[in-house]
Amino acid sequence: MSAYRCQGVVDAILPAVRENRLAGCYLIVGERGTGKLAAARYLAQVLICQNKRDGVTPCGICPDCKQIEQGTHVDVPELWPEEEGKRIPVERVREILRENYTLPTSGDRRIFIFPRMELLRADSQNTLLKSIEEPSDGTIYFLLTEDKSKILPTVQSRAVAVSAMGLPKEEMRRYLRKIGCEQERLDEVLVMAGSSPGQAEEYLRDTERAQMREKVLRYFQTVFEHGSFTRLSLIFPPARISRNELYLMLPMMRSGLCDLIAARYGANEDRHFFTDEGFCRDMGSVLSLKSSVELFDLSLELEAALETNVNLYSALAGFHMKAAGLVCED
Ligand SMILES: [Zn+2]
Repeated sequence: MSAYRCQGVVDAILPAVRENRLAGCYLIVGERGTGKLAAARYLAQVLICQNKRDGVTPCGICPDCKQIEQGTHVDVPELWPEEEGKRIPVERVREILRENYTLPTSGDRRIFIFPRMELLRADSQNTLLKSIEEPSDGTIYFLLTEDKSKILPTVQSRAVAVSAMGLPKEEMRRYLRKIGCEQERLDEVLVMAGSSPGQAEEYLRDTERAQMREKVLRYFQTVFEHGSFTRLSLIFPPARISRNELYLMLPMMRSGLCDLIAARYGANEDRHFFTDEGFCRDMGSVLSLKSSVELFDLSLELEAALETNVNLYSALAGFHMKAAGLVCED
C-alpha cells in the first residue's frame, strides 16, 4: 500500500478540524493511488493524538498515531473487502457499525473509514446511511471511493465531497525521485502511472508488468519495422503465455494503440504507454487507423473470452491469426 498522502484532501478538511466544525461524513473521491486512505488516517491522527504539536500536527510516534497509521486502532475501524475487489456483504457493515453502541476507548472520537465504498452494494450503503443520519457523538465517517457513480445519491447528499487529485507531471517526477526511482525509468513510470503516486509505487515494485511492457513495446516496434502485424505469435507464443500474462498484456496493447491513434491527430501530451514521443508520432502517422481500431477490438474480444471457460491456446491462436490479417497502411 502506498504511503503517499493527498495533501489536497488534508488541506480541505483540516480547517474544519481546527475550527471545530467538522461534518459528520466525508466522501473522498479519487483515482487509485492518489493518497485518499493516508489522508483519512492522517486526519484521524489529528483528531485522536494526545501529543499534537501546535495543537494540530499529530506526533506520529505515540501508540495512537502508530495504530492509526497501520489501520489497527480500535477507535478508527476500517472496513476492507475480504478479498481484493470482492463485494463487502451487508452483515460486515452491520458488524462494524455495532461499534457505535460502545464508547471510544482512548478519547471522545470514533472515526470510521470505508476505504472501498464502491464495493458496498445498495443494501449495505443504506445500512450505513442510517448510521450517518443518526450519528453518535464524536463520530466521523470517511467514505473513500475511486468511483463516485457507485455511491447512492442519498449517501452523497449526506456527505461533504472532497476530491483527491493526482500530481501534475513535474511533481510526479519529484515524487518518483524522492522514492528512489532511477532516472532512466522516470518516463516509463510516468506514462504507466499517470498522475497517481500510489500506482507509480505499485508499478515500480511489479517487475512482471515492466517485463510485459517491454514485450508489448517490442511487438509495436516489429509492426513498425516490418510493416505487418504478423509477429505477434513470435513475441507472445500461444503455448507459453498464461491467462494472467494476457490480463497484463491486453490493456497495455490497448493503451499503446490509444497513444498511436492520439498521435495521429497530433495529441502527444497524455501518453499512457509510449515514452518516446517521436516513435509514437512516426508510427501513428503510418499505422492504418482501421487496423488499429480492429486490433483494439480484437484485444477486447480476447479479454472477454478469458472470463469464460475458453481454451486459452485456441483463443490466443485465433487472436494472432486475425491480427496477422490486418494491414499496416491504409
Ligand atoms: Zn500521536
